[in-house]
Amino acid sequence: MNAPVRPESCGIDLARERGQRAVFCGLTGIVWLHRKIQDAFFLVVGSRTCAHLIQSAAGVMIFAEPRFATAILDERDLAGLADAEDELDRVVERLVARRPDIRLLFLVGSCPSEVIKLDLSRASLRLSRRLAPVRVLSYSGSGIETTFTEGEDACLAALVPELAEALPEPEAPAGEAGLLVAGALGDVVEDQFARLFADLGIPVRFLPGRSAGTMPAIAPGQPFLLAQPFLAGTARALEARGLHHLPAPFPLGAEGTTGWLRAAADAFGVDPARFEAATAPGRRRAATALAPHRARLSGKRVFFFPDSQLEVPLARFLAAELDAEIVEVGTPYLHRGHLAHEIAGLPPGTRVVEGQSLDDQMDRARAARPDLTVCGLGLANPLEAEGLATKWSIELLFTPVQGYEQAGDLAELFARPLRRRGLLEV
Ligand code: SF4
Repeated sequence: MNAPVRPESCGIDLARERGQRAVFCGLTGIVWLHRKIQDAFFLVVGSRTCAHLIQSAAGVMIFAEPRFATAILDERDLAGLADAEDELDRVVERLVARRPDIRLLFLVGSCPSEVIKLDLSRASLRLSRRLAPVRVLSYSGSGIETTFTEGEDACLAALVPELAEALPEPEAPAGEAGLLVAGALGDVVEDQFARLFADLGIPVRFLPGRSAGTMPAIAPGQPFLLAQPFLAGTARALEARGLHHLPAPFPLGAEGTTGWLRAAADAFGVDPARFEAATAPGRRRAATALAPHRARLSGKRVFFFPDSQLEVPLARFLAAELDAEIVEVGTPYLHRGHLAHEIAGLPPGTRVVEGQSLDDQMDRARAARPDLTVCGLGLANPLEAEGLATKWSIELLFTPVQGYEQAGDLAELFARPLRRRGLLEV
């Protein structure tokens, strides 16, 4: 059973650092969220810089009709010379008239919209009333004091108050609405987990749904699992609706996936033999897929810069399942409750640093000369130029990596840069 674990009792070297940071902002989440919620539209209320970021991050083709755009605040808006609210209403009304496929519209705040204090939550209420049945919600993707995965957290947290109240599931024990899994997963991963939960006899719903009309209904007392480690705001919003979080590791690698499923199985009283029967084939396939990567990654020294908030679970996966050596685990934020199992799974004495002081961390990475450095795009090129092999952490968000069937692919993401550097050095 996954009992709560206290990080301070795990022999981890926990430090906190403040200083210059190098991370993308929360707008980046739109890139995977717009693929997940297939009738949603994300309208960034921001500057030309925001528009460039989102265009280049998503690699939009000129002939595509994307489901995101930027309403650009120009100098007159920023100087308070124009009525930005009226202008925003006009832009949104034009957009909805032109794109009748939109059922859910997110107004996404940015640094400029926050600086001029444009009230997007009020705008979303006003526009929701005017444009019904299209639902208009808002959240902030601003880069002021945030990191790129917080965009998903803010988006899902904005959805939670909108979710309908669930009726009890017929297959579940009386009064239970089944399990809620929160966090955007690739559709293929979600389908695999849905099959596993069905084999365990646990009714499950996923947040977000794949469309505005298939968002899960929720009920007080319902347990939820987080599929991603960066959803503190979403968890708070679910707890405010009376749901309760199941402490668990995250479903990365075979051990993480088993621990994550076991937390649900324990909460729903699943018989151990049924759990074994449902998970054994996946565990076997994951073990087979991981074996060749262990040969390459075993003993390799890995350094994580803080970026995606996936760092602690990934370090646990690399150390526990692939025998890698962890030099340092930087993470923008460390939710000691949600990550307690992951922290406990790190080798004793692992250095975990919350926050960032970029220059100090660069100095430590250069001194350590790790075999592999996991970092943001902005740091990867300079480090490669200095002869260090790097892995872009953002790739771990764009690629389906959770669950038994993806364990080998996840290991491959770390093994590939080592193989490439090995070839370059021949
Ligand atoms: S939201 Fe802020 S950090 Fe992000 S692109 Fe816009 S201006 Fe830059």
